[in-house]
Amino acid sequence: MDQIPETLKTGLSADAPDVQLDATKKRLLATVTVMTQKAGCMAFQYALHNGRSQEDHLDVCMALKHQARTFLQTVDQPDVVEDILEMEELMYGSDTDMSDMSDTAQSEFRREFLQTQKFEGGTCVCDECVEMRNAVATWDDWAPEDEAETYLKQRVTSAVSILPEEGG
Ligand SMILES: [Zn+2]
Repeated sequence: MDQIPETLKTGLSADAPDVQLDATKKRLLATVTVMTQKAGCMAFQYALHNGRSQEDHLDVCMALKHQARTFLQTVDQPDVVEDILEMEELMYGSDTDMSDMSDTAQSEFRREFLQTQKFEGGTCVCDECVEMRNAVATWDDWAPEDEAETYLKQRVTSAVSILPEEGG
């Protein structure tokens, strides 16, 4: 937990409009973008595991909560660091068409998941699906341990609050 978390911890402040993006903010936004992308993959995987061909908003909520709880623990892994640095380059490094690249990355992830997926009927009880349900069940009790986690919890809570209630 060196590179990314340190910069996350030192760089967080209240959102201030008209402040130019500094390096830390860029790193944070790239990190959140990678996390969101992974959440999209997880939502799709969860849908597939549970007998559906398409994720819905509940799957996305679940995956976002799961990623908020787990993603920061993975940011010292070389492949995750690489993803984040690549995303930062993609977002701020050049005049690359951001939306186009994002779509490509997303569909690439989906293809990979589809190719490796084992389909199961009913409710899937694999480790990842159980983890995701646990993340949702314990979301309100989660006490973030640093500013980066606090930021993620606020962002995800606010993101899912605009969606319909879980379980109707
Ligand atoms: Zn599963």
